Amino acid sequence: MVEVHKVSGSPFDGNVYLILDEVPVLIDAGMDPEPTLRKIKKHIDPADIEMIILTHCHHDHSAGVPLLKEATGAKVLIHENEAGSLGDDMATVAYLFGLSAPEIEADETLKEGDVIDLGEWKLEVMHTPGHSPGGICLYEPRARVLFSGDTVFPQGNIGRTDLFAGKDADLVRSIERLTELEVEVLYPGHMEIVSGDVGRQIQASLRFARSVL
Ligand SMILES: [Zn+2]
Ligand SMILES: [Zn+2]
Repeated sequence: MVEVHKVSGSPFDGNVYLILDEVPVLIDAGMDPEPTLRKIKKHIDPADIEMIILTHCHHDHSAGVPLLKEATGAKVLIHENEAGSLGDDMATVAYLFGLSAPEIEADETLKEGDVIDLGEWKLEVMHTPGHSPGGICLYEPRARVLFSGDTVFPQGNIGRTDLFAGKDADLVRSIERLTELEVEVLYPGHMEIVSGDVGRQIQASLRFARSVL
């Protein structure tokens, strides 16, 4: 039985998820890694974590990587379009936080259609640009679980497209693709985890995106 724990540092941080499957992984790293690490230790020895999978390069999702990588020894994975953006103050929008992007090296890159085999769960990589050029969502078809990064959020919310290299039309197309999935639990990059009428919420995100973008 796979467990997912939200282990983010603070409510203002990007969400960090610990997936406990045969291969334990983190989805995103947030930017407040010390409390995140303390929360991880309640569930697992951090050294057992094998991968840190970034939904995109933004500072609030990636700045915690150096400390978490050191504590876990995990490899860092990100979409091929954003591997070169790590460490760049503009592309990671670190400047918005008044900070510099830390040096981060991707160990592997991801692309549309890749499958990350965790044991029971097989996470399908969907390239969902719009909020950022190499944003991804991760979909587990049997469990009907979606990690949506900053592409969609609960209650019909959507990711911003006015940041570095965001693109309105790409975001609409990406959300269209998400409406074709059967989703029972949504693990967004911000806000709360939701379950139940997730499909309706993603439909609402699509209507909203089409009306404002
Ligand atoms: Zn974010
Ligand atoms: Zn973002």
